[in-house]
Amino acid sequence: MDSPPILSTELSIVIPIYNELESIPALRAELAVVLSQTRLACVEIICVDDGSTDGSDALLKAWAQEDPQVHVLIFSRNFGQQAAITAGLEHCQGERVVIMDADLQDPPELILEMLEKSRQGFDMVYARRQNREGESRFKKASAYLFYRLMRAVIGLDLPEDTGDFRLMNRRCLEAFLSMREQNRFLRGMFHWVGFRQTEVLFSRPPRQSGYTKYPFSKMLSLSINAALSFSTLPLRLILMLGCGVSLFGAGYAIYSILWHLITGDTVKGWTTLIVLITLIGGSTLICLGIIGEYVSRIYDEVKGRPQYLLREIIAPATRKSAE
Ligand code: UDP
Ligand code: MG
Repeated sequence: MDSPPILSTELSIVIPIYNELESIPALRAELAVVLSQTRLACVEIICVDDGSTDGSDALLKAWAQEDPQVHVLIFSRNFGQQAAITAGLEHCQGERVVIMDADLQDPPELILEMLEKSRQGFDMVYARRQNREGESRFKKASAYLFYRLMRAVIGLDLPEDTGDFRLMNRRCLEAFLSMREQNRFLRGMFHWVGFRQTEVLFSRPPRQSGYTKYPFSKMLSLSINAALSFSTLPLRLILMLGCGVSLFGAGYAIYSILWHLITGDTVKGWTTLIVLITLIGGSTLICLGIIGEYVSRIYDEVKGRPQYLLREIIAPATRKSAE
């Protein structure tokens, strides 16, 4: 007897989740509505629990038990959103994959528009924020600065006001999965793979419940990672700074000798000396610090540790087959 044909998964949705107990019910309801509108026969939802401590994992397990579309990956601890997305992308089977946040700041209905663009032949469709309702002025200002600085520092034409919310096809996904670096700035990596990319615009709603998991310290660490993992410009700037300081030093030495020869004055200039020593000492330390950041990243790459560890995987035993 022939077994029923296995349907290939048409769409995977990858959702990183860290302490989102309050957001999950609304997310589930909204996703159900949108997925019924896609008219796709085989969809999987991959929730990656990034070491939540508020019981999100239990809620996700209950969801997976009721809905065979849902897969749950549970990390052994918090590894960060970038690792959670990576895990979901490595696990998914879909011909197309969407990455979205759990807090409904990435509106699920946009998936329909993304699918439309993807069908028109685009390999990657990213969502670009037109505005950010209800976010603090500081968050808006830091996000504004983040995108502009990254553009200037990375030198890549990274699309502004674009997060991880996007849809990509297998071709892009395979390219992304072939990049094995430890220090991951996903937005940069998604941009780096190239292919045909386009945007859909949306206004980013405020978080419906819970609180942001990106305090200033995490934003800062993401920005430093982004700048250093995609650019060696800071090293070049060090070189230029070094050259500048040395030239200044040489110029100042000539000036001092001439001054001494002309006036015979040797005691004066003590303040200048202290200022110069401090300046040069400070800039040397900054340079060492920047080099240290690169060295620590090289160290991370050499160690080659896994990017995340799984405590549990809840996946339907067999992939859905045609009834
Ligand atoms: N997130 C995660 N691990 C973390 C921090 C955040 O998986 O260490 C998830 C979080 O649950 C959410 C998404 O990443 O689904 C975006 O986080 P958040 O909404 O807090 O960021 P914001 O929108 O404030 O920038
Ligand atoms: Mg959010």
